[in-house]
Amino acid sequence: MRVKRARLVKLGLLGLVLALALAAAYTSSLIVQQQQTLREVSRYNPTWLVSQAALEISRLEGLTMAALVPDSGVDEDDVQLWFDIVMNRAQVLESGELAGLVSASPEFAAIAAEFRRTMRVGQAIMEEPATPGRLRRLHALFGALNAPMARLAAASNTHGGELAAQDRRQLGNLHWLFASILGALTLCAFGLIGALLRRNRLLAQARTKVEQQNRALERRDHELLAQNARIFFMAHHDALTGLPNRLMFHDRLQEALMQQRRWGDGIALLCLDLDHFKQVNDTLGHPVGDMLLKAVAGRLRECVRDGDMVARLGGDEFAVLQCGARQPERASELAQRIVEKLGAPYDLGGDRAVVGASVGIAVVTPDLCSADTLLRSADLALYRAKADGRGSFRLFESGMDEQMRARRTLERDLREALAQNEFEVFYQPVFHLQGQCVSGFEALIRWRHPDRGLIPPVQFIPIAEELGLIVPMGEWVLAQACADAVTWPGDVMVAVNLSPVQFYSPGLVAAVRQALQRSGLPARRLELEITESALLQDSKTVLATLHELRALGLRTALDDFGTGYSSLSYLRSFPFDKLKIDQSFVREMAYRPDCRAIVKSVLDLAHELGMTTTAEGVETEEQLDQLRRDGCTEVQGFLFDRPRPAADIRHWLAPGADGSVLRRGGGVRTETV
Ligand code: C2E
Ligand code: MG
Ligand code: MG
Repeated sequence: MRVKRARLVKLGLLGLVLALALAAAYTSSLIVQQQQTLREVSRYNPTWLVSQAALEISRLEGLTMAALVPDSGVDEDDVQLWFDIVMNRAQVLESGELAGLVSASPEFAAIAAEFRRTMRVGQAIMEEPATPGRLRRLHALFGALNAPMARLAAASNTHGGELAAQDRRQLGNLHWLFASILGALTLCAFGLIGALLRRNRLLAQARTKVEQQNRALERRDHELLAQNARIFFMAHHDALTGLPNRLMFHDRLQEALMQQRRWGDGIALLCLDLDHFKQVNDTLGHPVGDMLLKAVAGRLRECVRDGDMVARLGGDEFAVLQCGARQPERASELAQRIVEKLGAPYDLGGDRAVVGASVGIAVVTPDLCSADTLLRSADLALYRAKADGRGSFRLFESGMDEQMRARRTLERDLREALAQNEFEVFYQPVFHLQGQCVSGFEALIRWRHPDRGLIPPVQFIPIAEELGLIVPMGEWVLAQACADAVTWPGDVMVAVNLSPVQFYSPGLVAAVRQALQRSGLPARRLELEITESALLQDSKTVLATLHELRALGLRTALDDFGTGYSSLSYLRSFPFDKLKIDQSFVREMAYRPDCRAIVKSVLDLAHELGMTTTAEGVETEEQLDQLRRDGCTEVQGFLFDRPRPAADIRHWLAPGADGSVLRRGGGVRTETV
């Protein structure tokens, strides 16, 4: 807008300058004209001409007179010469400025006419033969012309003066006009300079503005580029861990497969997920869960070599792409490294957690060479690893697809099982070594599948945990075990296993209280077995739950002791009533001195801490003897009896039944699993 106005002003000024320039040109032409006039005035000055003419006539008159005087030195020729001069003058006076003067007044016109007539008469006389009379007549003729010529000269003088005054006035006016134009031109020049300066300032401002705008545009371009890069990064990476996401992993896998087709390199795909991640999230909260995922990502990065790619596919699922020869050996080595490294405890800002990892591996073969089939195969292998016991890895095998389908069917059936009353509780006796009596029974769930018969818990409990079915299932076992135990005589205990998932469920304490109330079983006869894996997090929540349970009056046992990480710290922070030594140590203690040493140390430790001990999986007399010698409180195992339905354990409750079995070993023959 401002620039437009400045342009208008500039155009106006230019128009004005143009007009003034025209005016100046016009004035100049006037001045030139005037100068011309002045020049003419000076050249044909009528006053001077008329005076000259008057003088010349007077001279001619004098000469005619002198020619009459003998020896005057003036002769006829001189008269003739001056006559010619006057004649010439007469012709000059006929034209130019004098003609104007003559026509201005009748008197002057009469004088001029007289002058012309005199000259004509003089001409005629001059042509006559030279006689004194001719000279006298000439003298008289021109003498008569003296007075009118003097008047004409005077009049001409006056007229010339007037003309000169008029010219001076005009020149004066022109001078003022010219000065005004010059002044106006100077003003215009200043105006133009001002306008130019203003225009330059505006231009400079506009340039600065344009530069600023350009800089802003450049900045915006950079920002857009950075934003695009950020968007690209975000679209291809996981925001939490910074690892490539599923999309990018899939792209890289496709690329690697294309290269593999060309160069024939080996490719292995490792899919892994964390065991018990949900527990960490549920008990320690999502921020700690996030910290754990970041720590896992960090450890995974440390496990792989340059050129391998680690990605987070979602949740607690990760994947590794390993390229290069020597497959599947290298992939197996990597999987082993990952399982070991991820299984070590995590310190998560004060909270401690242990999560394992299961890994499934698929290696490219001619039949297995598309990204999707590789991913699916690695996934199947992962499922297999989890089903076979967590914290391990499996290589994909062709039959896994079928196994997967079978597992899906099992999952479907498991969802129905509780409603269909397909679960049963079996009981395995626990013997008190000193008392030589059955001190209690461990309740162990069984699934009586309509087609597949009796299914042991290791086959369906991990699935139930994954599907979340373990909570209602565990509550059912608890209620059933309490209801069965209340029918047993004396103080015979019942031990119920708690799944880690169930342990962290919010309704656990209420469910235990309800089972006790409904059955009428005294709380002191109930023992809850918690596996080490349930206590993976050293958190206040875990301790609070343990204290709440103990406040109900029941006993707590740490099951499978020696298989996890956190045992000792838990023994310090929570006083369990019992330690159950894992059967793996018991099984091998007879021929492995290290296992014997561990068992002995655990028994001593428990004794020192005021806890009772149960050795699980006692199968031989030798094991029994050793355990007795080492001071174990209780034993449990196939040496005495396998788990049986409630109806088949009655004989253990008859007085005197236990002592003999402890001496002999072996149990009653009924259905066992
Ligand atoms: P666990 O609590 O350590 O139970 C002991 C397991 O060892 C039982 O296997 C039992 O049958 C087996 N066992 C006992 N004596 C011997 C022996 O001398 N030799 C051998 N080889 N095995 C022996 P089971 O019943 O198959 O249970 C396996 C695991 O499943 C249990 O280990 C427990 O962790 C879990 N489980 C069983 N029932 C339940 C349940 O109701 N709820 C939960 N959450 N878990 C359960
Ligand atoms: Mg147990
Ligand atoms: Mg056990």
